[in-house]
Amino acid sequence: MKKIAILGSTGSIGTQTLEIVREQGDIEVTALAAGGNISLLEKQIREFRPGLVCVWEEEKAKALRENIRDLDVTVLCGMDGLIAAATEKKAEILVTAIVGMVGIRPTIEAIKAKKAIALANKETLVTAGHVIMPLAKEYGVPILPVDSEHSAIFQCLQGQEGNPIKKILLTASGGPFRGRKKEELEKIQVEDALKHPNWEMGRKITIDSSTLVNKGLEVMEAKWLFGVELDQIQVVVHPQSVIHSAVEYEDGSVIAQLGTPDMRLPIQYALYYPLRRPLRGEKLDLFALGNLTFEKPDTDTFHGLSLAYEAMRRGGNIPTVFNAANERAVAMFLERRIPYPAITEIIGESMGSIGFVKEPDVEQILNTESATYEFIESRW
Ligand code: NDP
Repeated sequence: MKKIAILGSTGSIGTQTLEIVREQGDIEVTALAAGGNISLLEKQIREFRPGLVCVWEEEKAKALRENIRDLDVTVLCGMDGLIAAATEKKAEILVTAIVGMVGIRPTIEAIKAKKAIALANKETLVTAGHVIMPLAKEYGVPILPVDSEHSAIFQCLQGQEGNPIKKILLTASGGPFRGRKKEELEKIQVEDALKHPNWEMGRKITIDSSTLVNKGLEVMEAKWLFGVELDQIQVVVHPQSVIHSAVEYEDGSVIAQLGTPDMRLPIQYALYYPLRRPLRGEKLDLFALGNLTFEKPDTDTFHGLSLAYEAMRRGGNIPTVFNAANERAVAMFLERRIPYPAITEIIGESMGSIGFVKEPDVEQILNTESATYEFIESRW
């Protein structure tokens, strides 16, 4: 039996990970962690029987403890609880399906405890890639990408030891507003932005896909995961989301990974790597598809992508500012407090205002996050 722990088990990636566990039948779940959705967490506990769970909010942890007093499960809370779940003794793999920078510390501790990391939480690499990647190397721990594009790249790299990457072709659907011009973004409402053309995802990442900020975060993630320079990563808009990404080699050969848009595939690949297991669901039918098309991203309209390249080029704590500003701005947009174009405006202004730190440690990363939030609070 493979043994895994999941941070963010009640979210989009977390629940799909548990679907795979249910379907495959040979994975034991040893620990689960969630933010506050204790009713779903309780169902998961009753079905998968982890020995340890964490609920971020203390009050909810108390309530959960009461609700499952018939079971022998330890319920913890807060950062200590998250770290305990991430480092749970029996687990071999930690799935980081939590959202936000709160994932950094537990991921670091899990690496130190020699757990393989199935990484969905992109914020960890975006903001602390310079800490995480060397640490994983030092401890000999694999970072297995769960994000579909990065899983695709990872799959394209298999069997290519000794062949350097010439270029990564990172595909993007273009989101629901592809083809629109800047002036047209003013009128966009929350409901419009939550309609992704191809993928079913959590609310925040769906908004991020519509602004292309998600692609910007993925560019940063790819740089850390695959150790390439920024100008070796080319974003290609591919509205059908069939080619999940590709790698070009020195001889001009391009190897791509294709499939239907289904997050369970990259999750399952990370869990069983390097093996491939059967996966129920629709399979790719090229005849039904007919055409695959490609465009350059419109970075004038979707300025968030250019800001991401700028943040990564400047380095230090600026990717953290980019990420934190986006998190706060997206939350404000979802609360209908700001118009859609203000998301990227807030990111740009924050990047121009927060003090630069060259090699931030985790504390400085988290301080940068707070400073960015404070700056936004004071301005909007
Ligand atoms: P969701 O919002 O659907 O889920 C987030 C999960 O994190 C929930 O289980 C939530 O718990 C939990 N959580 C939030 N804060 C805390 C906390 N402080 N302590 C413990 N748990 C917490 O997000 P997604 O599943 O969409 O995304 C998760 C990560 O994966 C993100 O980094 C995202 O960028 C990345 N990703 C997602 C993809 C997707 O298809 N969804 C694709 C590729 C990457 P609760 O709900 O109980 O509060």
